[in-house]
Amino acid sequence: MEDRQFRNAMGKFATGVNVIATEVDGEAYGMTANAFMSVSLDPKLIVISIGDKAKMLERIRESGKFSVNVLSCEQQEQSMRFAGQKQFEDKFEFGELAGVPVVEDAVCQLSCEVYNEHTEGDHVLFIGKVNDLTLTDGEPLIFNCGKYRELKELELEEVR
Ligand code: FAD
Ligand code: NAD
Repeated sequence: MEDRQFRNAMGKFATGVNVIATEVDGEAYGMTANAFMSVSLDPKLIVISIGDKAKMLERIRESGKFSVNVLSCEQQEQSMRFAGQKQFEDKFEFGELAGVPVVEDAVCQLSCEVYNEHTEGDHVLFIGKVNDLTLTDGEPLIFNCGKYRELKELELEEVR
């Protein structure tokens, strides 16, 4: 099977878009990621998946902490910035939540500590224990079939 065919298949599954952030030696770093899932309620666990060539991998291992920031539909530029899809001159100012850098105005910020990690193929799955979170009103940014999109509400059929 071709990589492109697999990616096209995975791209059919619409997701939100996150920026994963962490801090090493006082420097904050971000990386765009859509591989994310809620794992457990007790304890509160989530999972992210980081490619073995991403610089973020060793940064998370070193800090032992990371944040997951669910971007709003007004933050496509931040997704492009932290995926290296577009270069920006300005310095990015992170906020902070429970000792971890976060993206301001994200619809959700999760401040996590590394609970476990599993290497699977060419990615590393980090299980994060959520220590704190914030929620902000707003519509999420969507990624589907390799394109950024916005949500559109569908009218529900009347149920009798
Ligand atoms: P870098 O290449 O160093 O950083 C990425 C970019 O962020 C660079 O352009 C850098 O300048 C910028 N940046 C980082 N920190 C700062 C800062 N403090 N201030 C300003 N700019 C900064 N990859 C995965 O492994 N898992 C995924 O789930 C995943 N999902 C993705 C979803 C989407 C929608 C997209 C577009 C990409 C996804 N990627 C994913 C790919 C990943 O985002 C890129 O490969 C990324 O470039 C890897 O970053 P890096 O850690 O190697 O760090
Ligand atoms: P795309 O068509 O490559 O992505 C569609 C879907 O394929 C993604 O949502 C993801 O589920 C999967 N995918 C893509 N690359 C993958 C990888 N290296 N490992 C595992 N799954 C992967 O969309 P695009 O616009 O061409 O993506 C932009 C860039 O971001 C590409 O370089 C892509 O590789 C990367 N990306 C990586 C991941 C990831 O590592 N999990 C996820 C999404 C995008």
